[in-house]
Amino acid sequence: MRKALLDVLLVYGWPGRLPQPLNRRRAEEIVARVKAFATLFAVLTVAWTAVDALVFEGVRLAGLAVARIVAGAFFAILALSCRLPAPTLKQARSRLALLLLIPGAFFLVSQAILPGAPAAGLPQGVAAAYAFVPFVLAAGIGAFPLALAEAVSLAAFTFAVEAAASWVGGQASVFARPEDFWLLFLIGGAAAFAASSQLTLMAALIEQAIRDPLTRCLRHESGAEVLETQFLLARRQRAALAVLFVDIDHFKAVNDEFGHETGDHVLAAAAEALRAMARESDVLIRWGGEEFVVVLPNTSRTEAVTLIQRLRARGLGTQPDGRAVTVSIGIAECQGDATASAADLVSLADQRMYAAKQAGRNRYVLDSSGEAYPVLAPAAAPESSRAASETSTASR
Ligand code: GH3
Ligand code: MG
Ligand code: MG
Repeated sequence: MRKALLDVLLVYGWPGRLPQPLNRRRAEEIVARVKAFATLFAVLTVAWTAVDALVFEGVRLAGLAVARIVAGAFFAILALSCRLPAPTLKQARSRLALLLLIPGAFFLVSQAILPGAPAAGLPQGVAAAYAFVPFVLAAGIGAFPLALAEAVSLAAFTFAVEAAASWVGGQASVFARPEDFWLLFLIGGAAAFAASSQLTLMAALIEQAIRDPLTRCLRHESGAEVLETQFLLARRQRAALAVLFVDIDHFKAVNDEFGHETGDHVLAAAAEALRAMARESDVLIRWGGEEFVVVLPNTSRTEAVTLIQRLRARGLGTQPDGRAVTVSIGIAECQGDATASAADLVSLADQRMYAAKQAGRNRYVLDSSGEAYPVLAPAAAPESSRAASETSTASR
């Protein structure tokens, strides 16, 4: 419970801190829910005129009916504007704001139209329903996956609506009744917590879906998506973007000799070595079983080679018998290799990785010359390094 509370406050409190895939998915979710609510309210707001007709009459009834038809039309337009195939967070936020603004404005108009002190009985009940609008808005915040700062801003909006209502002259304002003020405060607070909890849960599910638990690298699909975005960005900005295609050498033999569990340890250790080699802005993807793609934004071919030198200094871990784990690497760079797509870029790096295998493994190939250079120093290569390291990855 304490951790959940801290997560809501510290990790998911501020939208700028959230990872891009999470923001994209919650944007989709927010827009879908706004669409459902707006469609429902487009119908219900207008249909409620039948209830008003039982209670009010004359100019008051006509005024409310016009306000309802206008609000209903706005809800319908809002629902239509939610037909977005891949909404951005900005689009989602603006639609969510409108979902609150439309009933907020309707509430203000109703406060101007309705009598200050309603008669007893049914009219009082119906007038009270109008007074509840800001409470419903506050509670509704809990239906969306929001960062705490976003949810609190929306809750503050319901108080702004109440303040405006008291300015318009409606008697319903909570500023006139402390008990209702606190009720609105509590409902808004509980809804803001519910919204942030939804976001936390969503983040956990997305993390599970996009990341491989063994190596903590992105899975193929989510990684390919990030690579695609990076590729388009690099092309637009004419920036460098390099990828490394990394394949562990003779990995099947590791499984065959030491078992699958040890194979898993070796794999995780190799991923850790790649992570240590990379910068924070680089993206590690488990492309397949023992294959990794490392996406290096703003990195030229020569800078990519520097990273391999870092890998050489650190090593990739060892097998239980002390032999060094080695990899074959292919490098491709989007400007220099003039690749047309992210898929072409990876495919070229894959071909060069294959050339590195052909050249004897523990090699990297960095351009179309096909020339292969050693990754680990020859002393650490499998054939000559049975006692290269004391630390066995199996004992991690
Ligand atoms: P090469 O040097 O040509 O790359 O040889 P290799 O043995 O590494 O390549 P190959 O593609 O023949 O074998 C890959 C092996 O990786 C086969 C598969 O069982 C193993 N593997 C794939 N995923 C996992 C995993 O998650 N855990 C373990 N332990 N093994 C895996
Ligand atoms: Mg392999
Ligand atoms: Mg392979």
